[in-house]
Amino acid sequence: MEKVAEVIVDVPTRQTDQPFTYRVSESLKDILEIGMRVEVPFGNGNRHIQGFVVGFSQKELNMELKEITRCIDLAPVLNSELLDLADYMKEKTFSFKITCLQTMLPSVMKAKYEKIIVRLKDHEQCDQQLFKGADSVLFEDATVSLKQIKQWRDQEIIDIQYLVKQQNRARTIRYVRSLVTRHNFDQFTDQIRKGAKRKVQLLDVLTRTEFQPTTFYTEQGISATVLRQAQKDGWLAFEEVEMYRDPYADRQFAQTEALTLNDEQEIAVETILAKPQHEVFLLEGITGSGKTEVYLQSIAAVLAQGKTAMMLVPEIALTPQMVERFKGRFGEAVAVLHSGLSKGEKYDEWRKIERKEAKVVVGARSAVFAPLENIGLIVVDEEHEASYKQEESPRYHARDLAIWRGNYHNCPVVLGSATPSLESRARAQKGVYHFLKLTKRGNKAALLPQVEVVDMREEMIHQGSETFSRVLQEKIRDRLLKNEQIVLLLNRRGYSSFVMCRDCGFVLPCPNCDISLTLHMDTKTMRCHYCGHEEKIPHRCPNCQSNKIRYYGTGTQKVEEELTQLFPEAAVLRMDVDTTRKKGAHEKILRDFGEKKASILLGTQMIAKGLDFPDITLVGVLNADTSLNLPDFRSGERTFQLLTQVSGRAGRADKLGEVVIQTFNPDHHAILLAQQQNYERFYQQEMFIRHETGYPPYFFTVKVVASHEKEEVAAKKMYQIHQRLQQVLSPQARMLGPTPSAILRIKNRYYYQLIIKYKQEPNLFPLLQEIMQSSQLDQKSGLFLSIDNEPLSFI
Ligand code: ADP
Ligand code: ZN
Ligand code: ZN
Repeated sequence: MEKVAEVIVDVPTRQTDQPFTYRVSESLKDILEIGMRVEVPFGNGNRHIQGFVVGFSQKELNMELKEITRCIDLAPVLNSELLDLADYMKEKTFSFKITCLQTMLPSVMKAKYEKIIVRLKDHEQCDQQLFKGADSVLFEDATVSLKQIKQWRDQEIIDIQYLVKQQNRARTIRYVRSLVTRHNFDQFTDQIRKGAKRKVQLLDVLTRTEFQPTTFYTEQGISATVLRQAQKDGWLAFEEVEMYRDPYADRQFAQTEALTLNDEQEIAVETILAKPQHEVFLLEGITGSGKTEVYLQSIAAVLAQGKTAMMLVPEIALTPQMVERFKGRFGEAVAVLHSGLSKGEKYDEWRKIERKEAKVVVGARSAVFAPLENIGLIVVDEEHEASYKQEESPRYHARDLAIWRGNYHNCPVVLGSATPSLESRARAQKGVYHFLKLTKRGNKAALLPQVEVVDMREEMIHQGSETFSRVLQEKIRDRLLKNEQIVLLLNRRGYSSFVMCRDCGFVLPCPNCDISLTLHMDTKTMRCHYCGHEEKIPHRCPNCQSNKIRYYGTGTQKVEEELTQLFPEAAVLRMDVDTTRKKGAHEKILRDFGEKKASILLGTQMIAKGLDFPDITLVGVLNADTSLNLPDFRSGERTFQLLTQVSGRAGRADKLGEVVIQTFNPDHHAILLAQQQNYERFYQQEMFIRHETGYPPYFFTVKVVASHEKEEVAAKKMYQIHQRLQQVLSPQARMLGPTPSAILRIKNRYYYQLIIKYKQEPNLFPLLQEIMQSSQLDQKSGLFLSIDNEPLSFI
């Protein structure tokens, strides 16, 4: 019997979705640990791939058992908790274990593969032309023809191998260590030729310094060449020092002190910390009620106990303001993880956590995988946000995984929101979650803003502008006079600008997808949001040749133009996908607005969150309806959430705020209750509707989607699945479909879907797993199946 390793290999298919056994060489026996990445041979030929060691066992060795080629890590990159979490995630999301494992790590740790040519025997011509003295060369760097390579390979002179390439390099900085001492000084002086001024200078500096980065010398005019020569002469040695790429290195964070909590906040903090065991809390607090202060003080308490804490926020809420509040309170102990960081920066933040230098992690969705140990508290802020759900495989929900980790660490998990998801609020109702409420604004002087709803149908009759009602114009003018600030939201969820012919109604479609192309003014092109197809803006209708082809829909740029015409004196900042594409652009816009370089901030939903500026006294929602009209049962909920969030930006300090909501549906309950900012009433009404129509949270849901180049193949597959499900589901379960997906064709593939609504179906998941397993066979014929557990949308 011999110790062998169980390895999950980097091949995401059903057949390989299980551990493979590998022999462990003598040299690796004492080094290899569970959770390390290794390189292993796999399949036929010389293919080498990356794998994760997930266990060890004893086995009778046989000749077929291959050996681990090398160990990639010196320490495990995944601990046993995260390995367990991967198992849970795999079950929940119907995905491959390897995909789950890779999702947990910074992207630089994902394997890249390199093809190299190695020498098998000496061969003069080959050595001269190809290897040029080396033992191997990169395939892509080969200086001979492919034909020649093939020939040598057939003659077994060379071989081609596949290697795992490492991307996760730490950044190092070169330092100079002085070797000049009192004793050897004279000897060095003698080496200097007359007139070698720089050398005299260097020797002088070296007598006074011990260890400095090379830049310290170059800044004084001592060149790299002089340094290199001095190294050869034995005056100094170079050393590489590992550095963190710190995205916030050049920022100062003013230290902040804990605020005196009001009674509601105090009860919340005390209750969260009362029991040293796992419990989920729903903290429902109106906008500006000081939820963040509750998080900060609860986290401070667990840090004081020597534990760590995790704070998840939606990507777009991870504004500089939020980072500032955490860095201001906890300083160096904070690691920040979000998509605005470069891959290297993310890797460095990850290492800070892994080395236990960071005690608090603040981050977006994937920060839920932060390798924190001894977690004392997990917070999921804005828990209702859709961005917590990953829309591609593995389709995990960060809130779910956060609760799993809280359970593992036996610590409290706080879900916070002004507008909780109906699912969470319903659980709090049933007592599954502990319900906590904040009903007052944290800043005593701040009152909830007054909200006015403007009926745009009426407004159109009175010949106002399509974009700005008279009321809104008047209020904007007033704030500009008072030098106060204004936030304008252009609701663009499920909405885009397109081109339509006024004569024949022709809309420019994507040639690959069943969707119209979107107008992009910045690049002056028409673009498909699904496949990236791009073409020129047409000046004539391709269908009837008419030149009456016009843009429809209101883009932020168009609104900005209208705004500057109406208020030429006002400085406007625009925030949308186009103006925030560059790294750091988002931060800069907010900083400029905070410094009052502009009085109006115009943007899409990305401005709805996290802004806490005292001078915002007016919020205008230009079009509340676009998100209301989506054919999705959650459209009311999403609209209510958005309106409440953005309204909450007004009047957060001592100046009273006002909100104007422009709508064509002034009687819709989502709009009316957002006007009253009455979440509880909205919850009651919406629950009633969900009950009547049989939607979540009264039912659980799963979405199954098949896609194929031929429409009938995708459809047929879904009908087969429908039949199989029908055989095992109880009468209580319901199925919607199979139907073509909302966008039937994307990138020339057809999509068919089936939605299953159920309450208790013990046979459902095992069958779905089985369906997923067998779908592997279909992949050869180009049929792909995906399963989305608790999909965020049905379209
Ligand atoms: P939320 O996260 O609920 O939207 P914040 O934590 O951002 O609310 O708080 C809103 C504002 O109220 C902030 O400017 C914050 O400094 C202030 N605030 C919060 N709690 C208190 C308190 N106990 N005393 C004074 N001001 C507070
Ligand atoms: Zn036309
Ligand atoms: Zn397309």
